[in-house]
Amino acid sequence: MTTITNHMPTKELQALDAAHHMHPFTTQTELAARGARVITRADGVFITDSEGNEILDGMAGLWCVNIGYGRDRLADVAARQMRELPYYNTFFMTTHVPVIALSQKLAELAPGDLNHVFYAGSGSEANDTNIRMVRTYWAQKGKPTKKVIISRKNAYHGSTLGGASLGGMSGMHAQGGLPIPDIHHIDQPNWWSEGGDKTPEEFGLERAQQLEQAILELGEDRVAAFIAEPIQGAGGVIVPPATYWPEIQRICDKYEILLIADEVICGFGRTGNWFGSQTVGIRPHIMTIAKGLSSGYQPIGGSIVCDEVAEVIGACEFNHGYTYNGHPVASAVALENLNIMQEEGIVDHVRDVIAPYLKTKWEALVDHPLVGEANIVGMMGSIALTPHKESRATFAADAGTVGYMCRERCFANNLVMRHVGDRMIISPPLVMTTAEADMLIERATKSLDECYAQAKKEGLMVAAS
Ligand SMILES: *Cc1c(COP(=O)(O)O)cnc(C)c1O
Repeated sequence: MTTITNHMPTKELQALDAAHHMHPFTTQTELAARGARVITRADGVFITDSEGNEILDGMAGLWCVNIGYGRDRLADVAARQMRELPYYNTFFMTTHVPVIALSQKLAELAPGDLNHVFYAGSGSEANDTNIRMVRTYWAQKGKPTKKVIISRKNAYHGSTLGGASLGGMSGMHAQGGLPIPDIHHIDQPNWWSEGGDKTPEEFGLERAQQLEQAILELGEDRVAAFIAEPIQGAGGVIVPPATYWPEIQRICDKYEILLIADEVICGFGRTGNWFGSQTVGIRPHIMTIAKGLSSGYQPIGGSIVCDEVAEVIGACEFNHGYTYNGHPVASAVALENLNIMQEEGIVDHVRDVIAPYLKTKWEALVDHPLVGEANIVGMMGSIALTPHKESRATFAADAGTVGYMCRERCFANNLVMRHVGDRMIISPPLVMTTAEADMLIERATKSLDECYAQAKKEGLMVAAS
């Protein structure tokens, strides 16, 4: 038997990886041909690969390592909890201390009367819970026809059957016969790509009003809930116009449908408040959480539920649960993560220090000849690459060609910046210092310069007609 260690040559690790490991959201043959980058360790905002490169992680893993890498306290808590009680379930009239303590902490941190937590192992699973919970809620209230959940095109709500159905990614719907029944998608508030001649304000209002139209077309007696990310993450960090969310809230109130805020990315400080709902000024009935909940140190997610929904659900047996609901080790680690965030004032650091600092520099990228818009809220930002910024043009080349090229330049310059089509996105650890923010901007600018030169050389700076 081979022991797989960090000391094996990179090529051998890559070959073994390609032989036996199927990667998510990846064309396996393409990856096998070039070899996966092997990440061996990480500290603070940096990851290290098997060739010894130190890479600035502009994505905090997958939007999750909010307090940064290398936290001994989380390792210690996990080890202690594993020795004391590695696992017990919460199905059959049992509970344990870590899940009690974490639930109390979440109720304290969450706004309004969001006081109850149903756990899951991930954000996708939590959104599956939400589908069943809101439909059960209405059935319990004597309105079993209220089943439809309205979501948005280009939303991301996970990759389970339920999560991917709620999501609005056409590439995901195309595989495996999705969406499941009674999910309806309206358009996203992406002004840059879809706003045409309208002002952002007009456009935001118009896109929000699609919710009202959908409710009227489907029939009020059929609609259970609306789900959305306060700021779309995986869709390309789409910051909605200021008019959008107040109008959505008005419509949810008017028709008394449940509002689910998918806080998997926006939650836990990412937008400069504990939750994105606070940043955009909405009052959800349910919030989906995962990612930053444990800063990615353990897989854990959940739904934070308001008093009224919890009370209605609590009156019946909710026939739903996962073996790892409120897993003791994951709960203990998540709680310690939240304790650290509070002790170190990390949300204040985002709001008062690092996000305002990064915002000035990030927004200045709009002056780059390749960049059309540069948006950032808290520590999630995006730039739209364009061949012609005045007309907000898309490239004549296939969507993502130039974005991919830019991402490759970033990799070469030891920066993780992801591309979604021809948008470049960042979501760095929240503990980033101003010096590290400078480094991020410096590497991003260098990568943009190189990408621009290459795009020009390859004749790609041509607008689609
Ligand atoms: C990542 C993500 C999910 C899915 O979470 P997983 O833990 O990957 O299942 C759901 N919603 C949003 C907004 C996300 O960004």
